[in-house]
Amino acid sequence: MKKFIFSLFSVFLFFISCGGKGGGDSSATLLLLLAAGSGAASNDSSSASEPCMETTERTVAANNGPILNYYGAGKSVYYSNPQSFSVGPTKPNAIFYVEQTHSYTTSGDFRPVHYYFYNSSGSSFINREVTLGGQFGTSMLGYGSNSSYYLGSSSPYVSFGLANTWYLDLNGPVNSSFRIKQTVGCKAMTEDERWFNTSNNSNSTNGLSHSWPRRKKMNVNIIFLNNSYATKSLEAIQTALDRFKTLYLQNTVNVELVFSLKTSSDTEFNAISDISSEDTSLSGGLLRLYTSTASLQDPKALNIYIASEATGEGSLLGMAGGIPGLPGFTGTRASAMIVFVEPHRSTGAAGSSLSSADLVILGNTMAHEAGHFLGLFHTSESAGSSSNSGLNYTRDPLIETPYCSTSRASFLVNDGYIAPQECLGTGITNASGYNMMFWASDGVTNQNQITGEQGWVIRRNPLAY
Ligand SMILES: [Zn+2]
Repeated sequence: MKKFIFSLFSVFLFFISCGGKGGGDSSATLLLLLAAGSGAASNDSSSASEPCMETTERTVAANNGPILNYYGAGKSVYYSNPQSFSVGPTKPNAIFYVEQTHSYTTSGDFRPVHYYFYNSSGSSFINREVTLGGQFGTSMLGYGSNSSYYLGSSSPYVSFGLANTWYLDLNGPVNSSFRIKQTVGCKAMTEDERWFNTSNNSNSTNGLSHSWPRRKKMNVNIIFLNNSYATKSLEAIQTALDRFKTLYLQNTVNVELVFSLKTSSDTEFNAISDISSEDTSLSGGLLRLYTSTASLQDPKALNIYIASEATGEGSLLGMAGGIPGLPGFTGTRASAMIVFVEPHRSTGAAGSSLSSADLVILGNTMAHEAGHFLGLFHTSESAGSSSNSGLNYTRDPLIETPYCSTSRASFLVNDGYIAPQECLGTGITNASGYNMMFWASDGVTNQNQITGEQGWVIRRNPLAY
């Protein structure tokens, strides 16, 4: 069976063995630093007909450390003073994008920029996405994999009862500074969002019966690259857009997508030459696309590039710029996502229009990559999940999401990977093949399921309004 792969990053997951290092380990220190690092905020909340975001951008000194041998022998880490921010009922989500230019990005010396979060008591935790990335990373709160999964102490939903001050601690291998962009959503949570509690059934339908009563909207900016499609119009891919829209209109999400169109005639990106380089000057490269075509992007929309293909990446359907991506800014490495047309083709010559059936799969890919951009992980990673507890890089950190255990990777075909057909059971550990965020598509299984909690993440993204 051919598997099609949804990819979010080509860099591998990198595990930091010890948590809690990197500064801010006492409340006294934190209190002294309350005023540090604040930047001028711009509030875009004037109209209810568009997303509400507070965006800030600043340089933060890496003025602590080094912690010797942190990444291995001879590999130090430096860190910042804790950066304070607030989340709560009126600010349901804060997203951070951090960059530190350095050369330690090869597999032999991979040292990422990463984060720790601290609460006002000085307790630290890391998010599921904390160690992704080389020179840059994105992260968000509230949503994470701390002991209570979301914002810290006690029950998962309690922390949304009040505004909370949190602290961000930046870590990286170079003793200079970090560049940080920060977007805080300022669309107040509805009461049902604020007091949301997860379903707790031990079967494959867990979370699927939730219904969000208030419909939200989200703008989607479709960007056709030069060589991407026979006709560069929304109508030409309407079947895909309809599928994408239908998935997000389900009761468990209830977000209406509003599409707009941009086109490019730049031949540099007739095919994407590279999807993994961190060199923003590499001709035809994905990061060069994201960083050099900011004028095509909309800071208040989900930016989706439509490309012909990625050279040498035959089965790659699409990629997101991060989990989450960075709304509110254009021209960063995390400002967009991309889908590739040709890997979706089952019939017709390259460059011709896709069949309706292939357009439906393209719509699934858009929905999946958008899910990543908005903060969702795969239900289970490719080898299956090993556990349903704590911080776990083999499954989504949401406690509600059914997943698919490692043992299922040999259920039908013993190849070490879970296929959709191996994860269609009725329990909570042999399921999620039907979920929109399953790691791969087989082109047959209808991956339309999204849990209420997955929808809760989407609805609290700053792009939702
Ligand atoms: Zn994916």
